[in-house]
Amino acid sequence: QQDWEARFRLPHLTDIFPDAPPIPSTFCLKMRTSIDRDFPGHYSSYEEWHGYINNNDRVLLKTIYYSSPTSAGAECIDPDCTWVEQWVHRAGPREKIYYKPEEVKAAIITCGGLCPGLNDVIRQIVITLEIYGVKNIVGIPFGYRGFSDKELTEVPLSRKVVQNIHLSGGSLLGVSRGGPAVTDIVDSLEERGINMLFVLGGNGTHAGANAIHHECCKRRLKVSVIGVPKTIDNDILLMDKTFGFDTAVEEAQRAINSAYIEAHSAYHGIGVVKLMGRSSGFIAMQASLSSGQVDICLIPEVPFNFHGPHGVLSHLKFLLETKGSAVVCVAEGAGQNLLQKTNATDASGNVVLGDIGVYIQQEIKKYFKEVGIHADVKYIDPTYMIRAIRANASDGILCTVLGQNAVHGAFAGYSGITVGLCNTHYAYFPIPEVISHPRLVDPNSRMWHRCLTSTGQPDFI
Ligand code: ATP
Ligand code: MG
Repeated sequence: QQDWEARFRLPHLTDIFPDAPPIPSTFCLKMRTSIDRDFPGHYSSYEEWHGYINNNDRVLLKTIYYSSPTSAGAECIDPDCTWVEQWVHRAGPREKIYYKPEEVKAAIITCGGLCPGLNDVIRQIVITLEIYGVKNIVGIPFGYRGFSDKELTEVPLSRKVVQNIHLSGGSLLGVSRGGPAVTDIVDSLEERGINMLFVLGGNGTHAGANAIHHECCKRRLKVSVIGVPKTIDNDILLMDKTFGFDTAVEEAQRAINSAYIEAHSAYHGIGVVKLMGRSSGFIAMQASLSSGQVDICLIPEVPFNFHGPHGVLSHLKFLLETKGSAVVCVAEGAGQNLLQKTNATDASGNVVLGDIGVYIQQEIKKYFKEVGIHADVKYIDPTYMIRAIRANASDGILCTVLGQNAVHGAFAGYSGITVGLCNTHYAYFPIPEVISHPRLVDPNSRMWHRCLTSTGQPDFI
């Protein structure tokens, strides 16, 4: 338990400035209740209070009771291990804050690839900062690169500037990979007088944000670095879902539907759709589940044979013979063992994956030619179309709450933290705890089994 307490403790400015004086929050959230107990519904007198979150409020991680060790999912509980209460800290506005709004210069930055909802988060951070009373808000263009590239200048942000940006996809500030060293970024923060940095990005960006936080601590700078996880793949540990994922699944479903119509309308048609998911197959799994039109779903977490009597190709032959058509949905990180390794990396150092979609398309064509059966293969890669669209309603709400909570976290004096949805509640996490490795689809989980039930695919081993 002590270990858990230490692991999930949120780094705070008072760790390096023990005497930093808290001030009453400038974020006033008035709530009202009738105190006239004798006359319920008679609203003549009110009690007013502020809806603040206490620093010790917690969100429990385990919210299920397994009645027997044979219950699905219960096998992961070690009976010999003493039960540890697992929780994370609740996000939200605090009654005491550690920055005077007039002394704040806040900066927002978006890094990595595009994801629906980036503009929604930027917008909400700006609006919430203004409600606290912050006047000096800037955007750093094109990710971490914007800190070093002299050609790129800060973008002043205000409610007026961001009012309608959520109506389109992409990022108002632009994104990039690669960029300057952490020490150069912190030099730039010092030069610009930035003391709140909001970083929107994936695991790489968060590793950078955590390193910036540590460098600021080392230099004894009063700076809050707050992350907002941006991963369309939904592969961040402990979080129910990350923004953009819901939108991606919805849009992926449209691509699958097109593949289905193409396949179904052709003689012996086969539709192949490649979806995002470098190490986690959540988008492919959820889109397959929601569309109900996928016959074979392939994800990185579940190994499969492609050739041979129990492989994907022979199942496709069976599908053509029995159903007349088939749809394959494959996550980009699946079946990488089938492809030739290139050792190439992108500007951020991420390994460039081989194109499994193209491989599958070519191998299917080759196979059916060899076995002398007509097959009409159509390949769809909707990746960039999905990433660039605006957030749907559910992601719009998620982005709004994450953006607000990022600002509350900074004013509360935290740094080196990130914000996310956990068991339907919003919570703060120390960055290293959520990026130590990607969250994966559990091949023994109920959800993956549901997906297999829906597609009707066999084990390809
Ligand atoms: P995506 O999910 O789109 O890949 P990402 O945040 O993982 O998002 P990356 O391109 O890997 O995207 O990284 C974004 C930025 O973070 C880059 O500018 C990169 O230089 C920086 N970065 C990546 N890893 C680290 C690290 N370990 N330490 C410091 N900075 C890092
Ligand atoms: Mg990444």
